[in-house]
Amino acid sequence: MLSEFGIEQITIPLPFRLNHVNCFIAEGSNGKTVLDTGLNSEVTRNIWAPIVAKNHIKNIIITHCHPDHFGYAGSLQKLTGADVWMTRTDAEVGLTYWGRESLKRKRQDYLTCGLPQELIDQLMTDEESFTARVEPYPIVQHEVIEGMKIMFGKLEFEVMSTPGHSDGLFVLYNKEKSILFSTDHILPKVSPNISYRFRGNPNPLQSFLTSLEKIKKLNAQYVFPSHFKPFKNANSRIDELIDHHEERLEFTYFLVKQPATIYEVTLSLFQHVNVHQMRFAIGEALAHLEYLVANNQCRKYLSDKVWQYEAI
Ligand SMILES: [Zn+2]
Repeated sequence: MLSEFGIEQITIPLPFRLNHVNCFIAEGSNGKTVLDTGLNSEVTRNIWAPIVAKNHIKNIIITHCHPDHFGYAGSLQKLTGADVWMTRTDAEVGLTYWGRESLKRKRQDYLTCGLPQELIDQLMTDEESFTARVEPYPIVQHEVIEGMKIMFGKLEFEVMSTPGHSDGLFVLYNKEKSILFSTDHILPKVSPNISYRFRGNPNPLQSFLTSLEKIKKLNAQYVFPSHFKPFKNANSRIDELIDHHEERLEFTYFLVKQPATIYEVTLSLFQHVNVHQMRFAIGEALAHLEYLVANNQCRKYLSDKVWQYEAI
């Protein structure tokens, strides 16, 4: 369907269980525009090389700061001289999160979660491995803002801010054809990871649910997500995601009837996770715990420098 509007999907493999990311390229207002780039890696480079050779890429739009979308932006910018566009919020996170200072703070944060030292070391090794997957950093020349109109192929899309999966995430919507580039806000098959990360958004799950309600009003018919295949009817998937989080909140509330650490709650919510997934699992458990705290269903306190959460 996208090809009739002059938009091409470029699927780039990822070395994770979620094994690919969908990027897009189309004619923009002044040369080609790219939407998301993949990780900085050999595999990504080899996929973009012939596309860069054939096309005059003028603009690179990054939907959010996560490495699978943002990581190759700097390299692609170097190759093409293109301008890079991001939301201010996610540019700030993307350009600092994988730095040394930020990773040091992250280690401290993990200590307050009640994680065993060995697991913290494994998590930090995994996190540190991402620095090379996002460098070189792009120079972000332009800010993407709510309501901005973007020509992409034959269609004009409106930027809609949808914080939750990341603080500055946005989706692109074309009303006339009812097409939504949902990025990682609405995914089929998996529930997008919603992580609390100790700084930034104090209640990302609330933001995510609010963003889902906002997009539900569009009643978008054709959804092009950043992972998996396109699907129809955004609203039925939105309802499933809302139900999923309501269930998870109920279960999280049950888990803290007795005081529990973040690590204990994570292990009860998620089984069979590898080290890479553990990072998302901890963030997601925290997002649910902090939602309960914000809604006065739960309180938290430090005991021996470790957070304890307890239902009220
Ligand atoms: Zn993603």
